[in-house]
Amino acid sequence: MFDRASVVTPGGVNSPVRAFRAVGGTPRFMVSGTGPYLTDADGREYVDLVCSWGPMILGHSHPEVIAAVQEAVSRGTSFGTPGEGEVALAEEIVARIEPVEQVRLVSSGTEATMSAIRLARGFTGRAKVVKFAGCYHGHVDALLAAAGSGVATFGLPDTPGVTGATAGDTVVLPYNDLDAVRAAFAAHPGEIACVITEASPGNMGVVPPADGFNAGLKELCAANGALYISDEVMTGFRTSKAGWYGVDGVRPDLMTFGKVMGGGFPAAAFGGRRDVMAHLAPAGPVYQAGTLSGNPVATAAGLAQLRLLDDAAYTKIDAVSAELRSLVGDALTKEGVAHTVSAASNMFSVFFTGRPVKNYEDAKKQDVFRFTAFFHSMLEQGVYLPPSAFESWFVSTAHDERAVERIAAALPAAARAASEATA
Ligand code: PLP
Repeated sequence: MFDRASVVTPGGVNSPVRAFRAVGGTPRFMVSGTGPYLTDADGREYVDLVCSWGPMILGHSHPEVIAAVQEAVSRGTSFGTPGEGEVALAEEIVARIEPVEQVRLVSSGTEATMSAIRLARGFTGRAKVVKFAGCYHGHVDALLAAAGSGVATFGLPDTPGVTGATAGDTVVLPYNDLDAVRAAFAAHPGEIACVITEASPGNMGVVPPADGFNAGLKELCAANGALYISDEVMTGFRTSKAGWYGVDGVRPDLMTFGKVMGGGFPAAAFGGRRDVMAHLAPAGPVYQAGTLSGNPVATAAGLAQLRLLDDAAYTKIDAVSAELRSLVGDALTKEGVAHTVSAASNMFSVFFTGRPVKNYEDAKKQDVFRFTAFFHSMLEQGVYLPPSAFESWFVSTAHDERAVERIAAALPAAARAASEATA
């Protein structure tokens, strides 16, 4: 299948990290998913610790989500008109996340961040955007700039096809460094439209904000007339009922969502202050649109999933995450493998270094070759981890004792493989 795919699709995949390039080997083609398990085209079953990169927080094929989708599909798949499902989903988001007074639905996290940035620029009349190295906000041209080390660096295009002009208004700073943000505001007075940050980063591995970092960002933005945009595409509706906002309580001007809110379908959103959202077309002059925005099937899936995510669900996910973190840590310790298990609520990842990881530069210093050996051993034993050392692991309410036992049984050999690996 991968050979077939490689003929008709660049690199054989529709999203690069799926190709296993970071770990080597052939990607698994999945044909079905049930609860915490995925089954590949060769009929092998895996405990899934990727959960579609976050969305499948109730596990695969949750009966109530599937029923909601089937019911929606039976009424038609797209109308290109307003519909009740999108209103109900927007109401659910507004009810859960207090700083979101109004929300606009889109189809991907990329669209959400792209639109939020445009809105911030339109609202403030300013051009520059501050982002942090190691934070991923989708493949928005201006946000692909992630310059290497260095403070207050002007973003240079990280990928061919992003022009200097597009990335030139992006200021890339080291994560968890408020002094760098202060310096950027001082260097560009009246020019910065917004600071965008992952609410708690999961795209350089899991690197939570230091105490007071998000609050400091908010304060600096407010003091300098810029908007504070919290990207909750990954953390939203996952790290708590109200996402990372529910954990740290720092009130953003704008927020972006995706993944969990789509129930496995392409649905995402951005929202926030009513006075800012009022600048969005047709209420205001900042244009934004989408043929499939608020799609009735996607919104039915998302709404069904969100309605099932009550306090008990989060208690369960948090507990499974804690259990797995301690199992992984113990297995690696037993084999003498230097590591740091880093968690933000129930999101976690393992850095193969004993040194603390506070930003992307620290994350890059880990022994990636040990992760590679660990990953392949787990895969061979039927545990599907993210195929990169710089991604969060995800669990779901469906990860029960049986699934945890299967992971626990695979860990000793994987830890040994990590310990024996050579660069
Ligand atoms: N923002 C964050 C924090 C993400 O993790 C992602 C995707 O992983 C995105 C934005 C982009 O979302 P999408 O892949 O739906 O475009």
